[in-house]
Amino acid sequence: MRIDAGVGVHMRRVMFLGIGVSLVLASVACRKPVGTLEAAEEALGIASMRSLEYSGTGQWFQFGQAPSPNLPWPPFDVSRFSAAISYDPPSARVEIVRRQKLEPPRVRPTPVEQRVMQFVNGSAAWNLVVPAGAPAGSPPVPQPQPASVDERMMEIWTTPQGFLKAARANGALSEPASGGSTVSFVVAGKKYVGTIGPQSYVEKVQTWVDTPVLGDTLVETVYSDYKDFAGVMFPGRIFRTQGGHPVLDITIAEVTLNPAVDIRVPDQVKAFAPPPAQVNVQALASGVYYMTGANAHTVAIDQSDHIAVIEGPANEARSLAVIAKIKETIPNKPIRYVINTHVHFDHSGGLRTYVDEGATVVTHQMNRPYFDQAWAAPRTLNPDRLAQSKKPPKFEEVTERLVLTDKNRNIEIHSIANSGHNDAFLMVYLPKEKILVEGDAFTPGTIDAPPPAVPNPYTVNLNENIERLKLDVRLVAALHGPRVTTMAELRSAVGVQSGATKAR
Ligand SMILES: [Zn+2]
Repeated sequence: MRIDAGVGVHMRRVMFLGIGVSLVLASVACRKPVGTLEAAEEALGIASMRSLEYSGTGQWFQFGQAPSPNLPWPPFDVSRFSAAISYDPPSARVEIVRRQKLEPPRVRPTPVEQRVMQFVNGSAAWNLVVPAGAPAGSPPVPQPQPASVDERMMEIWTTPQGFLKAARANGALSEPASGGSTVSFVVAGKKYVGTIGPQSYVEKVQTWVDTPVLGDTLVETVYSDYKDFAGVMFPGRIFRTQGGHPVLDITIAEVTLNPAVDIRVPDQVKAFAPPPAQVNVQALASGVYYMTGANAHTVAIDQSDHIAVIEGPANEARSLAVIAKIKETIPNKPIRYVINTHVHFDHSGGLRTYVDEGATVVTHQMNRPYFDQAWAAPRTLNPDRLAQSKKPPKFEEVTERLVLTDKNRNIEIHSIANSGHNDAFLMVYLPKEKILVEGDAFTPGTIDAPPPAVPNPYTVNLNENIERLKLDVRLVAALHGPRVTTMAELRSAVGVQSGATKAR
């Protein structure tokens, strides 16, 4: 590359450490110019660093689960955050102990402490999880998380030291910028851009991940308050945003240089092959199909000349599997509507595939501007079908109530008012079949589980809404959980005896 200082452009391509470069480095005894990649490598002790462990406390935020389309991701207090990273070959273990933070007056279930143990090594990612229903004190077992590999590797390369190591190994471009430099490179097809400040510390790292709702999603980590932690310079604060809102804010208490980090891929994880997508179909009534088989479910309704679908969860892969099953179950009719209960990403990540199918999205009017903005974002990392077809999304907005009428049946869509779970929250009622479809307000447990000792406030609120609207419900098709249930069970879950008609 031509270097022309005369026009003030000063870009260098950092070379792999070849023999020539090593000789140059060895012969340079003086300090590197401040704010450069070389100075940052020296300041952060890259040459002798093989592994790093750091820990602290602060906050974690649940990405994609904002209680309103206008609010940030909900906060959790983190009583322990610990990361152990080995840089070559890259592997990491992250442990987080967290508890949801209540933000009165929003009413939520009483928070419980969650302990999350996440691992990555090369192309394998897994969690250690105590199996649900296991006796107290049971040891955690590895649970493969193949979809998390990219994100966890990204977390390694966005640490200050990881960023500098990856910059060196991947021919980074470096450009002077406000007393320091901007350094950029690509690893595994993913772009990283970092800012080295005038003190030669890595101050900020940006990268982009694909998320089904937001498309190319900026992940920005800001490092501040650098200190000497027993021989290693490390930021005292790590602050990360993803999709425009905070996801992590940790104050670092302790850093260990070159700890032994031995993260082996468990045999169960090595042997794991993801099962093929499964869509189970259960007819709840004539023409009403409950489609399960993944985390969140879908209901397909056979109308006279079209199909109406309730919920497009997860992502495009799930939508393609469900749409194929819908077409097999209800042949030769177009999907005209997809009703979205709320914007939480596990419930809305598959909507765009239905839009590409030609469906109109029916959602709460508060969600419309959110989807308009989110869906206009670039999708270069993983272009979905809608990104390719560029069909303009069509919306039908709901405030309190909307009825989709048809010769076969009416589909009533109601707002779930005053729910702590979400401020733009819909449920669907089929008066002819007396079926209620709802997500996250009531999720039944296993068939033999007793009703909760303390009623879930979201379910209490759902029951109040059902009574307020005088809906005569027979079956409840929850969009999470193992089975369809009854109104009697919903009432019993909120402490009302079966058959009782009065609210608590
Ligand atoms: Zn939700």
